[in-house]
Amino acid sequence: MPIVSATEMINKAHEGHYAIPAFNTNNLEWTKCILQAVQETQTPVMIQTSEGAAKYMGGYKMVVDMVNDLIDSMGITVPVALHLDHGTYEGAKKCIEVGYSSVMFDGSHFSIEENIEKSKEIIALAHAKGVSVECEVGGIGGTEDGVTSNGELADPAECKAIADLGVDFLAAGIGNIHGKYPADWKGLNFERLAEIKEAINNKPMVLHGGSGIPFEQTKKAVELGVSKININTELQLVFADATRKYIEAGKDLEGKGYDPRKLLKPGADAIIAKAKELCEGFGAAGKA
Ligand SMILES: [Zn+2]
Repeated sequence: MPIVSATEMINKAHEGHYAIPAFNTNNLEWTKCILQAVQETQTPVMIQTSEGAAKYMGGYKMVVDMVNDLIDSMGITVPVALHLDHGTYEGAKKCIEVGYSSVMFDGSHFSIEENIEKSKEIIALAHAKGVSVECEVGGIGGTEDGVTSNGELADPAECKAIADLGVDFLAAGIGNIHGKYPADWKGLNFERLAEIKEAINNKPMVLHGGSGIPFEQTKKAVELGVSKININTELQLVFADATRKYIEAGKDLEGKGYDPRKLLKPGADAIIAKAKELCEGFGAAGKA
């Protein structure tokens, strides 16, 4: 089965009180590892690329072809959606055109009026082609120039304005942060999450910056309406760590240890193990 829209898997997760893992991919190896992990755990999945990652891999069309070809050649039977993460207006339009099955339009840096206008347009274009859409309200905190801001909190009224446009799932800041969480992080703001859930009439929500949030917090977020959790940093960290250990142990200097298939194997195994752990932790394993 080629890639599918994320609407059905997200709605099922929303009803069943679990969250679909949305893993960012960077290359062929990453994509294979994610697919192996979700197949072995029978997890419906969203594979996503930032615009930068898609460019790094050769372009949006290449990513569509790669994911569809891997699904076919690896015999993947679980539902897989291919999603654009933090898309610009132009990027989202392009991805809808070339075959992504889901897109995020992130208009959070525009005024709320402009965000509404552009979101409306992307939703119409996407839905005409059966593509699911995520929009964002209010920005997500993160590290810029080495300074980590505490997570931002979205305004429930603004969330309602975007939700009412017919978006399929909504990203809103509830104290979450992209990248590594600082030691003094205050945690997710469940009060604000509950207020947003109420304002948007229980539409599925997306938790960005899911790397490193303790499972007891993600579980509570899922009970309050989060149905998609984004994971990027966590897989990067385990990959880098395993690769560093291989090199530091001098394994690349033993025999043909320099062969990229050998050199990247510990990192790939680490990605598979971590992805499986997250599928279980989000309650999505076995739900395919
Ligand atoms: Zn994000």
